[in-house]
Amino acid sequence: MSATRTILDGPALWSAQAHIPSVLGRQLVIERGEGSYLHTTDGRRLFDGTAGLWHANIGHAHPALAEAAHVQMLKLETYHIFARFVNDQALGLAERLAGLSPVDDPKVILNSGGSDAIDVACKLARRHWQREGLPSKTMILSREHAYHGLHAYGTSIAGLDFNREGYGTESLVPETARVPVHDADALAGTIASIGAENIAAFVTEPIQGTGGVNPPGPGYLESVQQLCRQHDILLILDEVITGFGRTGTMFAAERFGLEPDLVTFAKGVTSGYAPLGGVLVAPKIWQPFYIDDVDTPIFRHGATYSGHATACAVAMANLDVLEQDNLLQRVAELELLLDGLLKQLQARRPSVREVRVGGLLGGVTLTDDIPAESAADALIELGFISRPLRGNTLQLSPPFITTDDELIQFLDAIDHVLSAKE
Ligand code: PLP
Repeated sequence: MSATRTILDGPALWSAQAHIPSVLGRQLVIERGEGSYLHTTDGRRLFDGTAGLWHANIGHAHPALAEAAHVQMLKLETYHIFARFVNDQALGLAERLAGLSPVDDPKVILNSGGSDAIDVACKLARRHWQREGLPSKTMILSREHAYHGLHAYGTSIAGLDFNREGYGTESLVPETARVPVHDADALAGTIASIGAENIAAFVTEPIQGTGGVNPPGPGYLESVQQLCRQHDILLILDEVITGFGRTGTMFAAERFGLEPDLVTFAKGVTSGYAPLGGVLVAPKIWQPFYIDDVDTPIFRHGATYSGHATACAVAMANLDVLEQDNLLQRVAELELLLDGLLKQLQARRPSVREVRVGGLLGGVTLTDDIPAESAADALIELGFISRPLRGNTLQLSPPFITTDDELIQFLDAIDHVLSAKE
């Protein structure tokens, strides 16, 4: 019988999403960023080919955002936006986001990140139907391989099964179900079998990210929107990755011609310089909460850091950088280059099974004999960060400020690593 041994000498920090024995002793400690590059405490300089967790869209350590945080903190760190109180930065940011929103005339809920935004959107969808007098409409549908964060709703609607396992029940919150990816007929079938009268909302990423970078097939999202409308099911578009330019438009909803009922966002709203997320809410959902009457209901959302003033000031500085540096246009250029380079890679390397691109989001699926994890490890030794995703896929999602040369070098490094392993 083998004795068990507990590792007692690691750091106090419990790392996220980590098989602890596999990572202890080989973690890269990032101490400094500089545009598209990161510096580690052991002296490495790494190209951030994933923009962290798809967040560092304008690159790292931008002085304008540091300045915005500094100025705001000297004025007011934050003040909560509960009841009669609000702060000027949250008001200003919400106004600006309403102007950029793919939802017409939205109200903007501000909170602290993507998981938070998903919880609020799912709760609001259920609240909507309860208030409408349709109490059975509680089910939240999502897609296989989906990632919507790890709060209670995100965990429960996860299509990456491992994120749902180990909590005792199939789902932390009741009434969730998943449908196959990119299959509108399967969605129609699921709606028919569950009954639209039991379904509150369908949640989808426009381009599935953590599930392996899976852009939708032609017409898929339009069909989904049509099905949702036809059956009175709210469409929640999770734009936590795609929001704020990652697909070359401010939101992917514009790229795909969608008019969702609720849009969740986070990451790119501040490019990660402060924890902030939120939900854009369509009029049919918010208007009943704005009726001038003593009996008007309250949507009981909000936390201490909802609409955090410093985070909002940073977000506005981030939006300035996106606009002033024309970064959406740059994403469109980089998408074309990435597409061409990935096709060349696939033609050259027999270990590349498939490549996929949607905006500045790329996925390289490898044949089974080369684990994506080992390829990502080898890339780090060459000075490039990629990330292994579901389906033996490497994630490529560099910052929007990436130069053509840097992207070419990144793809050359992948080619080099694969050819050495083939
Ligand atoms: N939704 C999507 C599509 C995501 O990719 C993520 C995070 O990667 C989330 C939600 C959760 O966001 P956060 O990590 O900010 O809680």
